Amino acid sequence: MAHEKAEAITIRLTDFSETSQVAWFYTRECGRLSCLAKGAKRDRNNFEGRLDLLCHNQIVFARKKHSTLHILTECKLRDRFMGLRADVGRLYAALYAAELVREMTPEEEGQPEVFDLLLGTLRALSDDEQPDQVLLILEVRLLALAGFAPSLDVCAACGSAAQQEKSVRFSAALGGVVCSKCRGQDPKSVGVPSAALGVLGRLANGAVTPAATLTLPDRMLAVLRKLMKATYCHHLGHEPKLMRYV
Ligand SMILES: [Zn+2]
Repeated sequence: MAHEKAEAITIRLTDFSETSQVAWFYTRECGRLSCLAKGAKRDRNNFEGRLDLLCHNQIVFARKKHSTLHILTECKLRDRFMGLRADVGRLYAALYAAELVREMTPEEEGQPEVFDLLLGTLRALSDDEQPDQVLLILEVRLLALAGFAPSLDVCAACGSAAQQEKSVRFSAALGGVVCSKCRGQDPKSVGVPSAALGVLGRLANGAVTPAATLTLPDRMLAVLRKLMKATYCHHLGHEPKLMRYV
């Protein structure tokens, strides 16, 4: 078995047996990856103590040829993001970020921008940034990196140029703004101030990192988060488990 190194964030942990666990990582090098961590629940193990969720690690794993469950051989902790552990609201926000990354990314396909986005999100949440803003940045950018950036300049249904109005209709199901002729195609489309769409565009193209301090008015922030939540529910076909808490 070939041994490989990776920079990895723990996004899920489950028990495999009395002493072993399965760890799901999002890695910079190979994207979402699962490993069997033999003996991880023993006090003395090969992983510098217990594996924990939402940690930044340097790992070594033995790649299995005929299985996607590889064998974890080393796990060195780089950052535990202690700020997350001190506040349940921040912890839930971070777990939600990990859930979205897990749901929106294909297995074993490296996308360093997603890794950096998740790492930046955990750091910002741990460092006391406003959770709603951090999550909005993650939601919009992750959607764009997954290939579902919302259509903001042209109608998502017919492709005609969006009108310059104070408020436009946005459809989560159709994937962006909809013109007056097409809005009937989605009765759930909602009115959004045009200024909010400008913000959405900047977040989608990665111009804003999770650590940035946006000064969005509370109402605009609430409107945009609601739009993003509806968009994720539409794409995934279900509501992410942690969504109701964040
Ligand atoms: Zn249209």
